[in-house]
Amino acid sequence: MRLVTTLFLLISSPSLGAEPPAPIIDVHLHTKPPGEFLPFSPKPSECALPERLPAVDPSQPKVLPAYMKTKEPYCERVLPPAESEEELIARTVERLERYNIFAVSTGSAETLATWAERAPGRIIPAGGPEDPTAPDEQALRQRVDGGALEVFAEISTQYMGIAPDDPVLERFWAIAEALDRPVGIHLGPSAAGIPSLGFPTYRARISNPLALEEVLMRHPHLRVYAMHAGWPMESEMIHMLYSYPQLYVDIAVLNWHLPRAEFHRYLERLVGAGFSDRILFGSDQMIWPDAIDVAIESIESAPFLSDAQKRDIFYNNAARFLRLSQEEIARHHGN
Ligand SMILES: [Zn+2]
Repeated sequence: MRLVTTLFLLISSPSLGAEPPAPIIDVHLHTKPPGEFLPFSPKPSECALPERLPAVDPSQPKVLPAYMKTKEPYCERVLPPAESEEELIARTVERLERYNIFAVSTGSAETLATWAERAPGRIIPAGGPEDPTAPDEQALRQRVDGGALEVFAEISTQYMGIAPDDPVLERFWAIAEALDRPVGIHLGPSAAGIPSLGFPTYRARISNPLALEEVLMRHPHLRVYAMHAGWPMESEMIHMLYSYPQLYVDIAVLNWHLPRAEFHRYLERLVGAGFSDRILFGSDQMIWPDAIDVAIESIESAPFLSDAQKRDIFYNNAARFLRLSQEEIARHHGN
């Protein structure tokens, strides 16, 4: 009888007694509902691991949604979109649970509350001032004190043509330092051809990691991670990591939107220069949840990484950078 009961339990509860997989921290997850992300239906698929990038004709500027609607498929690995908010949440949360992911998640207060309900304990709320050039310190302080805002991200001033060391951002940096909140700032690629796709103020040169230098010198208590690791400016990024030990990078989007050989080459350069303990895993999932699978595979399949380096990139570096408590780390490990 006991054997039968045990067998029954084993069959009916496959997770019973199973260890959760080793945890992952995704420092770059978006929760914006698909209807706001792209205001038309059906939503387009996205491409992972392309062999070449699609052509954009700058003499025929288009806005990004119109371009996304018409662009030709250009790769083998196609990521199906989530059409609705419900589908986005369901498919993303399924992955958070399957891979045991805890995610620094950007979105509106309402959206983040919904996600936190659907994935209890897995959502680390992120956001920032609506306009980083005119931050409302009081409002930010209230959200931080209330636990509704743990990370300032994604600071996307690159799209506005504003470099990190532009004086118009100085107040924001001072507030982030005073509130002791980490900042994730977009420094790197967007969609290929983005200046001709409705973002005429986006500039490649503003992804230069050297533009963080004066900010870090002026604010020695500031914790910053360069989202997208300044790709492809590896020499500048390495010099900054070397000079400023408080600086981290995330490898979101690089790990699924670039050709994999290029991602591995870039990652190997950063790791080979000695910075495997300053690289954070991120997905930059937008409305294509399968991107998370590809992003994880891109780390797992890197032949130059040791198992210990993979654990650092997937979890340990972010736990240190975010200053998680021993209790939180134990909970993430299922203890
Ligand atoms: Zn992003």
